[in-house]
Amino acid sequence: MGVAEPDPARIATELQSLGLKVALDLDPRRGGAGPAEGGAIVLGGRALSVPTASPFVANSPYELRAEGGEAVLLRHGQELMPVGLIPRPGFLKRRTKSGMPFRQLALMHGADCLASTVLQTCAHWASGRRCRFCGIELSLTGGGTLARKEPDDLAEAAAWAAAHDGVTHVVLTTGCAGEPGAEVAHLARCARAVKNASNLAVHVQLTPPEDPVALEKLKRSGADTVGIHIECYDREVLARQAPAKAALGRRRFLETWRAAVEVFGPGQVESFLLAGLGEPEESLLEGAEAMASLGVFPFLVPLRPIPGSLMADSPPPDPERMARLYEDLAAILAARGLRSAECLAGCVRCGACSALAFYEKEPRPLVCHQARNLGERAQALRIRHRVFVEEQGIFENADLDQADSRAVHLVARLEGRIVGTVRTFPVDGKGHWIGGRLAVLKTARASGAAQLLVREAVRTAKVQGCLRFTAHIQEPNVLFFRRLGWRVESEPFDYRGRPHRLMSANLDKA
Ligand code: SF4
Repeated sequence: MGVAEPDPARIATELQSLGLKVALDLDPRRGGAGPAEGGAIVLGGRALSVPTASPFVANSPYELRAEGGEAVLLRHGQELMPVGLIPRPGFLKRRTKSGMPFRQLALMHGADCLASTVLQTCAHWASGRRCRFCGIELSLTGGGTLARKEPDDLAEAAAWAAAHDGVTHVVLTTGCAGEPGAEVAHLARCARAVKNASNLAVHVQLTPPEDPVALEKLKRSGADTVGIHIECYDREVLARQAPAKAALGRRRFLETWRAAVEVFGPGQVESFLLAGLGEPEESLLEGAEAMASLGVFPFLVPLRPIPGSLMADSPPPDPERMARLYEDLAAILAARGLRSAECLAGCVRCGACSALAFYEKEPRPLVCHQARNLGERAQALRIRHRVFVEEQGIFENADLDQADSRAVHLVARLEGRIVGTVRTFPVDGKGHWIGGRLAVLKTARASGAAQLLVREAVRTAKVQGCLRFTAHIQEPNVLFFRRLGWRVESEPFDYRGRPHRLMSANLDKA
């Protein structure tokens, strides 16, 4: 009987929940706006940030032994596998022309990401409304960093790190500057300066701004990707753990994500989902589904209790639970065609604070999601025109109507190409939704795209409170819908010169 190979996904998950005992200095982060506290190693070829200094780490079965440049991971004192150490970047010893130490401006995150909190203060820090898991102002004590980083200084640091330390992308984050979005002007100046000086891919993180035009301003300034982090999809838990974010309301996040995907593109917008805040698993997966269908990457991260933060004594989530969540989230990403490897910059590209990348699968060849930007909506409408106007002649010139402006439009993509569409919308305030305009290109009709679109349309409506889902089905397609579990609800009737029947979906199967 052979000895089982160590499973990097499992080990990464446990390390982030249990911590790593280290005798050497891993160039740790002690505070900051993200999941700070810890150091980074390279496990299975991926950078992984792990807790090293919190009190619970003393009970971890994992420890790191390093000798002569080689590092080995041990579990309960037994050697498990070699791991990589991330070389200390040279920029930490450099200064700007004006004498400012680079290390006060930015840090290396993961293996190749330069990260800076450009405004290291938060309007909610001293009030009772700050995020309980955040440690943004902790690193200001002791002079380790500056409250405000200036664009020209950051640009110098980024250019040097790109040229000498193998940095390939930059994360610029901030605390809340007051009104949501007030931090945009400074973020935009920093993004522009960094881009001009280094040509690195730039990621910016902000709270949902009042005016989505701010997103276009950031894009024009050189930002390639954006993070708009809700942290938790459960309203009550969010209100408890991050009251200022909760006060913005879920709708504000959804609208900003939509607008951001329009500007930055599908898969180039991210939101953290923190596990371990007390949220039910279903809410976390509901949030992940909602984001992924819009083209927002749900970045699942286990709570990292930062010493000094209001959640310093909260334990990180159980690794069993994290493994389950990662598996489920990986399936959601594959079904929506999202991949971290396609993200240009930011936490999703770095990935060090999450074990998600260890679980990711290849996207399925056939995926379905909402039409996420103007281009995808235009393609969906072209397919409808081809089917209902050119092929079937049901409409003379165009099949567009008033319902299109309020409908959710879904598309099916086969091997990356949009091949079909369907729309769904509520007809009353009592939970009745209608589906329609199901259209699939002739060349893709054997692919299963129609079945997938119908199922996803019903599911999309159901998560938005649908209690009854109906559609007018052309007589030759009744059997197809019966096979999907739909019920016939009327005798045939004429609609635009063709026999149709009213049918309803089985919501229990959605
Ligand atoms: S995932 Fe984000 S916060 Fe974490 S180390 Fe990478 S860049 Fe920093």
